[in-house]
Amino acid sequence: KQTDWRGIAAELAPVEVIEEPVLIKKRSRDFFWYSPILNAQLKKCFGDLVARPATSGELAQCLAVAYAHDLPVVLRGGGTGNYGQAVPLQGGLIIETTAMNRILEIGEGFVRVEAGALMADINAALIARGWEMAMFPSTQDIATIGGFVAGGSAGIGSIANGALREKGNIISLKALSVEEAPQERVFDAEEALQLHHAWGLNGAITEVTLRTVPTRDWIGCMATFDSYRDCYAAGYALAQSEAIGRKLCSTVEARIVDYFPRLEGHLTKGRHLLVALVPREDMEAFHALITAQGGTVDLALDDTERRAKGIPHVFEFAYNHTTLQVLKADRTATYQQYGVGDPSDAEAVARLGAAVGEDVWQHHEFARVDGRIVAFDLPIIWFTDETRLRQIDDTYRAHGFSVADAHTYHVEGGGLKNADYRHLAWKKRMDPKGLLNPGKSRAWEMVRHLSADDIEAKAKD
Ligand code: FAD
Repeated sequence: KQTDWRGIAAELAPVEVIEEPVLIKKRSRDFFWYSPILNAQLKKCFGDLVARPATSGELAQCLAVAYAHDLPVVLRGGGTGNYGQAVPLQGGLIIETTAMNRILEIGEGFVRVEAGALMADINAALIARGWEMAMFPSTQDIATIGGFVAGGSAGIGSIANGALREKGNIISLKALSVEEAPQERVFDAEEALQLHHAWGLNGAITEVTLRTVPTRDWIGCMATFDSYRDCYAAGYALAQSEAIGRKLCSTVEARIVDYFPRLEGHLTKGRHLLVALVPREDMEAFHALITAQGGTVDLALDDTERRAKGIPHVFEFAYNHTTLQVLKADRTATYQQYGVGDPSDAEAVARLGAAVGEDVWQHHEFARVDGRIVAFDLPIIWFTDETRLRQIDDTYRAHGFSVADAHTYHVEGGGLKNADYRHLAWKKRMDPKGLLNPGKSRAWEMVRHLSADDIEAKAKD
């Protein structure tokens, strides 16, 4: 039956709603267009109405209205996800959380915030008190903490503090169910993982308590190398170093660096780039490490010096911002996500680079997972068609690298929620009608008819 959206808007009052079609279309998109495959699939998917609750009470009201009318619901923070996580596949109500943005408590080693708070605002409030977020994505200026917990995985800080899912990083969260009378439940650190990276399928997060770390006087560093092999090896050495504190360590092929016009004149041309954030007191050791690895430090600036020179923050050349710098110039580029088999093996990385073809330009991020250094490649890929993309995936696999596909809108596709029914038991409890982000989980379609306990039992099989 046709939904009376004007009537729904009236029922949502006093919650702010957005009804202008152009604005609804804008809020139906995220950064899925990084992928030409997702772009073709998702570019015509739009919601019908946007609600902007300002409190968890207002959010509960939105969910109750959705439940009463069987409306598909997509939660949305800043809309910066890359896999179409925030795109409504079946139309319906978009609930934008950015008005729920209060920082509720800052204490020793933790911060408690509403889900719609922007990470840049959280970091600014923390830094003023001597703390900072243990990790955050380079999109912190427009991305929300709820969106990071529900849609992200790691970021700047992960080289020191691990991935978001690691013990201690998410301390607890609160989330609302989608029922006649939505319930707000508290999830402890262990249970919170059932909502983490579940793309808003398993409840509407209202509040998050996260680990924080003492802030340091960070220097943004850029070093250059003649060969990408040496650049990667230096990245690994820095990632491994016990003597140098660092919260970012990335390496980027010279061909990609040519797409960074704002760094022109600041870096030696034609060289491969290592990007890092290093505390001021460790700069001498950093210089020594780079020299020993055959590189030179071209730039080392604190925030004040960087601003005076008009240079963007170093993290705008790392993680998925690296890809964005290329996409700004040429939309035929895309990327993929590969785990490096043995991160200490720079030769294997160089061999792969030579084998994979001229349409793949390497870019590595180093992080720490379960205490061990890992590296993943987020290469620029000059897209021709999906067959060639899958050939590239196969070449990586043949060289011992793993693939976390960035070109699927199914939550199971990227790796974190693979065949994991336990989180779907929580979905059944939190969203019995399956209204949240419908169409994004293949596994849910297979178990939605079961009870939460039966789904949980399936997880233990
Ligand atoms: P959105 O895109 O709005 O939402 C993400 C998912 O979370 C959606 O499925 C949405 O439905 C769900 N969601 C949002 N709010 C809630 C809520 N309150 N309750 C339940 N579900 C909710 N990601 C990383 O992990 N690390 C990076 O370093 C990183 N770098 C990036 C760089 C660029 C240039 C770009 C474009 C993206 C990058 N990303 C990265 C992806 C993304 O920016 C982050 O994961 C970001 O934290 C998402 O936050 P958001 O507010 O934009 O979420």
